[in-house]
Amino acid sequence: MSNRKPGSIEQPSSTKKRIAVIPGDGIGREVIDQAVKAIHATGAAIRLTEFDWGADRYLKDGTTVPPDGFSLLARDFDAILLGAFGDPRVPSNLHAKEILLGMRIKMDLYANVRPVKLLDASLCPLKNVQPEDVDFTVIRENTEGVYLDMGGVFKPGTPDEVALQEDINTRKGVERIIRYAFHHARQHSKSQPPPQGGSGKSSQAGSTHTSPRKPRVLMTDKSNVMTHGHGLWQRVFKEVAKEFSDIEAQHMYVDALCMQMVRDPRQFDVIVTNNLFGDIITDLAAGLQGGLGMAASGNIHPGCTSMFEPVHGSAPTIAGKNIANPIGAILTAAMMLAHLGLKTESDQIEAAVLESVRQKKTTEDIGGSLGTKEAGDWISERISRRSAKA
Ligand code: ATP
Repeated sequence: MSNRKPGSIEQPSSTKKRIAVIPGDGIGREVIDQAVKAIHATGAAIRLTEFDWGADRYLKDGTTVPPDGFSLLARDFDAILLGAFGDPRVPSNLHAKEILLGMRIKMDLYANVRPVKLLDASLCPLKNVQPEDVDFTVIRENTEGVYLDMGGVFKPGTPDEVALQEDINTRKGVERIIRYAFHHARQHSKSQPPPQGGSGKSSQAGSTHTSPRKPRVLMTDKSNVMTHGHGLWQRVFKEVAKEFSDIEAQHMYVDALCMQMVRDPRQFDVIVTNNLFGDIITDLAAGLQGGLGMAASGNIHPGCTSMFEPVHGSAPTIAGKNIANPIGAILTAAMMLAHLGLKTESDQIEAAVLESVRQKKTTEDIGGSLGTKEAGDWISERISRRSAKA
């Protein structure tokens, strides 16, 4: 990215998919450089426009999101590729809140889709787990919950201080994310392993299927204590589940789910949950994949301009050292291309990433010895070879 000027248009053409690139802060800049390189290597028909939103811009002129910024993105772009926000020079994190949470909430990107896929057994901290055993998706509600910053403090700084943080759950918000999860399960249903003797998920989980099982949607909450807000999730989940007789609906309290994710990740297909629990369990899930550097995500409103970002943050402690793992960002780019209908290009990126992991042409956090840029170069070179053959 360093060779592009903010706002510059690279490959003008009305037929190309228009992508806004916002690298942001810290390692966001380093990993998005690699993701952009990977996209270019596919030869995809895209037009990239870079935006300089982030800590540097905020410190320079006080701008977090320029006036009309979100409307511009929604109007003029097909998708947004985002890095990460957060910088020690902005202790309030105001710019990050206004850009990232602002984009998710004001653009109503209500479905945060986080695929959890193990690429190689060596990356998983669990014993005897194969890649096919960790393959599920977390669908996190992205516009409500405790992230709306509603609440306040009373008598601050005194022994009588009271702090309130509201948890917002609306019927509309809960229903649409649950329905999204069921549709996702239907559209991305995994083919099931053979009933006996296979090395796949169900046989390893100890079940004895004689026919393929239904895809599952598991809703997780804490309705036993958060009776009002999560009671709504319970009621809506049961209602919506009735519309999807081809999908198995399950429920787990979030504490039990955390244990099950570690004990037997094979049992999950789609997990749907609120904003806070989704944030937490996807860090745990990233641990199953090899760490935060491996995890991709999309922030989606069907039919509207959606945003794609790696799960990790700006990681200031490792920023600028060329050691951040670019794979989460590169897989995020693949996810975005698939969303835009560029499936061949997306598959090329995923195949090259898999090859890099298997050959350990990666950064040190997942067992390789390359820097961020060099790992990105290796993957891009492999993509170029594949796209030249295609
Ligand atoms: P945020 O609050 O913005 O989500 P966070 O506090 O969860 O951020 P991250 O910035 O995601 O924290 O990073 C936490 C730690 O995880 C980092 O300090 C780093 O050690 C590791 N980490 C995160 N991303 C990567 C990456 N791409 N490559 C290697 N390590 C990473």
